[in-house]
Amino acid sequence: MNRIALLPPEISQKIAAGEVIERPSSVVKELVENSLDAGAAEIRVELLDGGKRLIRVHDNGSGMSRDDALISFERHATSKISREEDLSAIRTLGFRGEALASISAVSRVTVRTWDGEEAQGVQVERAGGQLIRVSDAAFPKGTRVDVEDLFFNLPARKKFLRSDRSELSLIAKYVTNAALAYPGVRFILVHGKREIINCPAVGTLRERIFQLYGKAFLDRLAEVDGEDKVARITGFASKPLMGRPDKNHQFFFVNKRPVRDRVLQAALNQSYRGFLEKNMSPEAFLFLALPYEDVDVNVHPSKIEVRFKDSPFVFHLVLKTAGNLLLGTRTIKEIYPEAGERRLAGGVAETTDAPPLPLGVPEPPSMAKPGIPTFFAAAGVPAHVAGLQVFGQYLDTYIIMGREDALLVIDQHNAHERVLYEKYKEIGRGKDWPRRMPLIPVLIELSPSQAPALEENGPLLEEAGFRAEAMGGRTIALREFPEIFKDGEAAEVFLSLLEEMKEGGVEAKRERLLATMACKTAVKAGERLSREKMAFLVEELFKTSQPSLCPHGRPVIVKIDRSEIEKGLRRG
Ligand code: ADP
Ligand code: MG
Repeated sequence: MNRIALLPPEISQKIAAGEVIERPSSVVKELVENSLDAGAAEIRVELLDGGKRLIRVHDNGSGMSRDDALISFERHATSKISREEDLSAIRTLGFRGEALASISAVSRVTVRTWDGEEAQGVQVERAGGQLIRVSDAAFPKGTRVDVEDLFFNLPARKKFLRSDRSELSLIAKYVTNAALAYPGVRFILVHGKREIINCPAVGTLRERIFQLYGKAFLDRLAEVDGEDKVARITGFASKPLMGRPDKNHQFFFVNKRPVRDRVLQAALNQSYRGFLEKNMSPEAFLFLALPYEDVDVNVHPSKIEVRFKDSPFVFHLVLKTAGNLLLGTRTIKEIYPEAGERRLAGGVAETTDAPPLPLGVPEPPSMAKPGIPTFFAAAGVPAHVAGLQVFGQYLDTYIIMGREDALLVIDQHNAHERVLYEKYKEIGRGKDWPRRMPLIPVLIELSPSQAPALEENGPLLEEAGFRAEAMGGRTIALREFPEIFKDGEAAEVFLSLLEEMKEGGVEAKRERLLATMACKTAVKAGERLSREKMAFLVEELFKTSQPSLCPHGRPVIVKIDRSEIEKGLRRG
């Protein structure tokens, strides 16, 4: 008994349609793309029941002639490409000539259109892929497509549709995407009687973001602009520290086509490492423009994924552009532009035999640990930093500073960590760690998981100043370690570094290694600091590339605006 048979055409057509047309939002996407390809200046989308009952897309674009309107429903009927070569440089959103065929196979479709040239417009009605009626119609230039009862002839697929509300939200998401990519086009989205989106044409993306999301949202973003050779990246992305706990607000467009793309996503998220708190991700609207022949859009049925000819190039362009943005907008520097630009008198004591501090301020004993550099000024530092007055220390843990318009609360450990991390990075680049060679090597017993971690990461640790030698079994001898650690600390530090080395790529490991070394040598919470030391620490902090975050991504500074204080005291 034969089990396999060829599907009759009316079924195979539906199956193919099922791939592109999955739900109301895919219909909206295809129709709006057609309107954009037709050069519309205004696109109106009307829905009933989340698009299940009716999707109407009305545009004022080029319209179609009577013959075109009839043939547009044939599979592979398209005006956008004609030769095979066209496929390698697609300039339009559509090109497969399948959307109208697929949509009309699974719904009742009525198209009205007029191209402004023929004597009058035409109305074409189809249902389940069959032509029902063609008639003349008085219609302004443009096209209106009504799609009713989606999947009326495919009950199984209809069952998989979600609630009206969630279908609507997918549609709103797509229309938002399209509106972002085409600020010069007016978009209107109406559900029943409710207007969901209505944004008149504007000149810039900035205005469009403002229309869609409002001012508060826009204020969190900085403008992105970078180019290299033939490619350009524009758009907006989070200012440092302004991320959100998910990746839901990352929009990528390639030649104005909204896409999902791992290369762009990875590059964006990597750029923000160290500029956002732990577990936070940037918001972004990134538009990549590159020659049509450098990107293949013919790789995914609904064209939501693309393939770059040269992904590493794209990756680095994003990394570089976002990096420039981030380095250009260091939050705290923005608030205190003068910070970090003033040089203060007084040298930096990097060794322990610094002269005692002036002003008779007693030196807290914990700061006098031999071997640990303090990076604090030895003399003559006023208790002012860049226009900020140092008021004192709270709970021996937080430095309280301020000036007329705000109070700053600075976490001394996190701040010192940031300072040391950048110094260590500097030293690490030169690989010239001042080392200590203990008289008696420090013997360490490794755990079964630490032993392979050492084998794998020996060179990295050596770079950071640690030289270990195998002694047989899992015992090792630490022969050399950076001078910043005491004999008694070295073993513990070395073991925690090994723990940090268990996963990740070389660059991530190197960063974590330095961050951990900074953490181990930074002042602790609960250590009393003199005012001069506080001032010096803050001065150094503002010289770093990112004063607002410690290398582990924890915040360093809390700012309390004077207006907030006054509001609390009912003075404002
Ligand atoms: P594709 O967009 O891939 O060409 P479609 O099935 O979406 O295929 O559309 C087929 C053709 O119908 C298009 O190439 C275009 O010529 C015409 N068309 C569809 N929608 C519109 C519209 N809104 N305005 C003008 N022409 C349209
Ligand atoms: Mg199309």
